[in-house]
Amino acid sequence: MNLIISLGGNKNDTLFSFNEAIKFLEKDIGNILSQSKVHTSKAWGFKEKTNDFLNQIIEIKTELSPLEILKITQEIETKLGRKSKSISAIYQDRVIDIDILFYGNLILKSPKLTIPHYLLHEREFILKPLSEIKPNFIHPVLNKTIKNLLLSFKE
Ligand code: AMP
Repeated sequence: MNLIISLGGNKNDTLFSFNEAIKFLEKDIGNILSQSKVHTSKAWGFKEKTNDFLNQIIEIKTELSPLEILKITQEIETKLGRKSKSISAIYQDRVIDIDILFYGNLILKSPKLTIPHYLLHEREFILKPLSEIKPNFIHPVLNKTIKNLLLSFKE
């Protein structure tokens, strides 16, 4: 199955963590098929001034199930030093956040995991790097291409 995940973070060592994460993803989940460049965006939802955010999208060929993948990505977050979860609307600086965006065309709603990721279409900082590698991929719930979803931010 083709898995698409996003990496995000806004600490000084985030870039280093992305590279470490990619090594773990390749070892534990499957071959990397493509990856976007690292994009930078201004942080939002924070009370105080904070570092810019980095985001990168990775496409992986995998034999694992979505829940097996979630377990591994959470272990990678922990290994790379993510200490706190976001609680309601309070955001915290983090070294790395790994989200599952798509798993082929699967639509899944379980207590632990929602696929496609429930916020991806609202986040320009995800859609931009995603459209670099998957512009014509059709969001299985919204039935729109990534390119089209991104266009809504330009109106
Ligand atoms: P966050 O602190 O925003 O990274 O939220 C992490 C929580 O979201 C985890 O406990 C997951 O069980 C849950 N979750 C639901 N859907 C997804 C998804 N598509 N990718 C990653 N985590 C998810």
